Amino acid sequence: MPDPAAHLPFFYGSISRAEAEDHLKLAGMADGLFLLRQCLRSLGGYVLSLVHDLRFHHFPIERQLNGTYAIAGGKAHCGPAELCEFYSRDPDGLPCNLRKPCNRPSGLEPQPGVFDCLRDAMVRDYVRQTWKLEGEALEQAIISQAPQVEKLIATTAHERMPWYHSSLTREEAERKLYSGSQTDGKFLLRPRKEQGTYALSLIYGKTVYHYLVSQDKAGKYCIPEGTKFDTLWQLVEYLKLKADGLIYCLKEACPNTSASAEVAAPTLPAHPSTFTNTQRRTDTLNPDGYTPEPARPAPSEKPRPMPMDTSVYESPYSDPEELKDKKLFLKRENLLMADIELGCGNFGSVRQGVYRMRKKQIDVAIKVLKHSTEKADKDEMMREAQIMHQLDNPYIVRLIGVCQAEALMLVMEMAGGGPLHKFLVGKKEEIPVSNVAELLHQVSMGMRYLEEKNFVHRDLAARNVLLVNRHYAKISDFGLSKALGADDSYYTARSAGKWPLKWYAPECINFRKFSSRSDVWSYGVTMWEAFSYGQKPYKKMKGPEVMAFIEQGKRMECPPECPPEMYALMNDCWIYKWEDRPDFLAVEQRMRTYYYSLASKVEGSPECGKGAEAACA
Ligand code: AMP
Repeated sequence: MPDPAAHLPFFYGSISRAEAEDHLKLAGMADGLFLLRQCLRSLGGYVLSLVHDLRFHHFPIERQLNGTYAIAGGKAHCGPAELCEFYSRDPDGLPCNLRKPCNRPSGLEPQPGVFDCLRDAMVRDYVRQTWKLEGEALEQAIISQAPQVEKLIATTAHERMPWYHSSLTREEAERKLYSGSQTDGKFLLRPRKEQGTYALSLIYGKTVYHYLVSQDKAGKYCIPEGTKFDTLWQLVEYLKLKADGLIYCLKEACPNTSASAEVAAPTLPAHPSTFTNTQRRTDTLNPDGYTPEPARPAPSEKPRPMPMDTSVYESPYSDPEELKDKKLFLKRENLLMADIELGCGNFGSVRQGVYRMRKKQIDVAIKVLKHSTEKADKDEMMREAQIMHQLDNPYIVRLIGVCQAEALMLVMEMAGGGPLHKFLVGKKEEIPVSNVAELLHQVSMGMRYLEEKNFVHRDLAARNVLLVNRHYAKISDFGLSKALGADDSYYTARSAGKWPLKWYAPECINFRKFSSRSDVWSYGVTMWEAFSYGQKPYKKMKGPEVMAFIEQGKRMECPPECPPEMYALMNDCWIYKWEDRPDFLAVEQRMRTYYYSLASKVEGSPECGKGAEAACA
């Protein structure tokens, strides 16, 4: 995730105090001159360096576990920019207010910090280990869920680290460290009996040393007298760089051999502030034993499910055993159809069912073609199946196969949350804008995949975005879709058909030309539908009126809840000339940046505007 301060011209990244002072000196030492830099000790924290009376003042800004930012004893703000803006108006305890930003000289980018690279690697390892993902599924999970995973990592990542031993006594720790190579700096971390405290055991000069790791009143971890950290893994990473009171730097992990076998759903330990004082306070390191588990979260703190927690994130054929049976045509005997209708369309109905595979049974949605339909409809449904069969992405409804029995049936994976527009109607209060942005970002990921594979959807609309749950969307309905030839960037329809004109770009209507850029136009309309919480686009206008409206250079207004950044993107999707519109590669990037920026902020914070609500309850 990009640093939330990255866009600020007075943010220097990971520079030292002395370097900060040099910049301030060069900029003239005026009262109220300030800059912002990254704090090495606290993850996501900053230091505000300020000049007053020709002297330097440095104020650490902490990023709290709830995602807000505050100078010790000061008010909480939803982002570093908001914090600086606040102190520019009101000194609130600082020697003076922030008057003049000391901007970076041109060409000087913020200096990346150690944790920036570390964090990305941690997210990757965490997703790989927790959900056992590899390849494209891993990449997609990282992109779509980085904000949520980062929150989990902040508190639980140590449980998945090779150096963490969840049940080891002091004696066992010593045995482990003495066995095998007794390399200086080999270490492990284990919980102690006293809840909320840990022991860091380290070998040096063939002797094992044990250090107490305890939490202060604010829940920060430290070795007594040492630097304080938000999380245990940060403490370990820091001590790998700097001994900071230890006899030696941490080097090689003494691995917990069972770590990789522990596959559990991600759990969130209690927020440190929920530990009692007696649990927190400890000064000495006694011989200790095993503490079962840190306190578990209160129900309200439970992490919400992520797409990767559902059974439809990966293809049912991602298991090589199941892949052996993968064919377009399915056997009727393996398909069980329930008497539950999920929806209907011109072709017939969509019914709920179960499909039996080699090792498992999966819930499916079965599109059943009406008996009365003509051959042309059958051919169309088969074309839809042929397209879907070539696609495999977590944000696209996958085809399991086709079944020709009492009727022609398209068997798809289940996305039982219904279409996006219906889900959002009347939910302005319940579903924050960040949740809408999250779902739309997933749609942009699915569309980016289609664009990369050279497919055009031709019917992207909120009605064709189905939800698995409120945080997981999939693109569906490939009835109009086309695979483009390797050298083609568009498809020309032979004649106009029953088309969703309100979602179509001018070149589709005027020249029957369809490309990924015309899908981008439809994506803009889909965005509008979502940010207007399920309203119908172009109100009561008819297709030809909409065409005239667009030709006059007019566009739909910004829905009341829609953040300006998202309305700007919508308008770019509606650029008249297709060559000038962004492609999905660019659309996805912009959606990602915006969604990440919301996800790092906090719900209900008075400092944050509508668009700054937290990433979902
Ligand atoms: P369609 O004609 O493909 O847009 O499908 C009509 C309706 O059937 C949709 O609006 C959904 O309510 C339902 N439906 C279609 N596909 C699925 C699916 N894969 N999972 C759950 N419901 C579906």
